Amino acid sequence: MSAAPDPSTIQGPPSVAELTARFEREFGTLPDGVWQAPGRVNLIGEHTDYNEGFVLPFAIDKTARVAVAVRQDSTVRLMSTYGDQGIFATDLTSLEPASAKGWTKYPLGVIWALQERGITIPGLDLLLDSNVPLGAGLSSSHAIECAVISALNELTGAGLEPEEMVLATQRAENGFVGAPTGIMDQSASLRGSKGHAVFLDCRDQSVELVPFDAESAGLVMLVIDTKVSHSHADGGYASRRASCELGAELLGAKALRDVQVGGLDRAKGLLDEVTFRRVRHVVTENDRVLQTVELLTSDGPGAIGELLDASHLSMRDDFEISCPELDLAVAISRASGAIGARMTGGGFGGAAIALTPATAEQQVRTAVERAFSEAGYRAPEIFTVAPAAGAMRVS
Ligand code: ADP
Ligand code: MG
Repeated sequence: MSAAPDPSTIQGPPSVAELTARFEREFGTLPDGVWQAPGRVNLIGEHTDYNEGFVLPFAIDKTARVAVAVRQDSTVRLMSTYGDQGIFATDLTSLEPASAKGWTKYPLGVIWALQERGITIPGLDLLLDSNVPLGAGLSSSHAIECAVISALNELTGAGLEPEEMVLATQRAENGFVGAPTGIMDQSASLRGSKGHAVFLDCRDQSVELVPFDAESAGLVMLVIDTKVSHSHADGGYASRRASCELGAELLGAKALRDVQVGGLDRAKGLLDEVTFRRVRHVVTENDRVLQTVELLTSDGPGAIGELLDASHLSMRDDFEISCPELDLAVAISRASGAIGARMTGGGFGGAAIALTPATAEQQVRTAVERAFSEAGYRAPEIFTVAPAAGAMRVS
């Protein structure tokens, strides 16, 4: 894919009937079925995943759909409704990691990872349509992978459990796409449920669905995509990860997940100042995830605002992965009516989320847009997301 895609130009998803009709026009046959999988937003729990800790993402009401038909040969033909790229064809028997270009690496990566597990994949025709904005931190790539693996799991009769599909898509990302990603995004996409967040323990992959019905609480979740991506030239991500590993080692813990908030005093004496602050972020963030789960269960979404705020401050000041655009989005959202706001995702750019009374939505949007304009920043993309169902077959 060449130019940076503009999320506002992405339509859809079209109805299943439209997608089926398009499939027939492009491939000359009807699909065997249509499967969908959503993008995700992480409510809280940032940089805790690789510390074997807790995260709390939710599947969103923006979804990738794939119509798929099995072929009698070993050819794979792939097409997306996005970007006018035509049909891409390749042979199943010669998939090489790192060789695939553009978006095809996601479906091909899934096929490759399933082949690696000994699952025989038939040739297939596949048409993708997605309304998950690309590159906005909503995991449009995992939405594709999860829709594809759901389809293949059923069409091949492989019968993989969700946990196994999570690991297979991780393998696709790590081994074929070449991205060192964890298990959070696909866990939300595959295991999400309408009106719930997915409380995921990244150590043992156990999942608990936690009620998160923002709408019934009179709230909306705003996503403010700053559209900035600051350079990782200083090895921002790698150095945070290295600090976490060093911290755990010096504290004699298997992972930072095993360090409690009460253990931070001791850590202060054992770690250099920067490592300590990074450790403090992870340890307190894990604790905030647990508190958020408790509060959502006992009091509902209206009670978690302070935890979202605290998470942002911890990322800004201790983990140092925010940036001026994200800080502005968070500060203005809070000042204009949001009950809690934080940057979400890996950091150094991307999106912030703002949990906002429905009655204040317009006010927050207007205030953030104005503040960005006054600061001379690029106009952000602002939209709402709701906790929605995970992957499923729709036809
Ligand atoms: P994110 O997953 O956060 O949206 P990534 O960079 O991981 O960002 O994935 C974005 C990539 O996913 C795009 O560059 C493109 O290759 C692919 N992609 C997502 N949606 C589509 C689509 N509808 N059609 C084609 N490719 C898509
Ligand atoms: Mg992605």
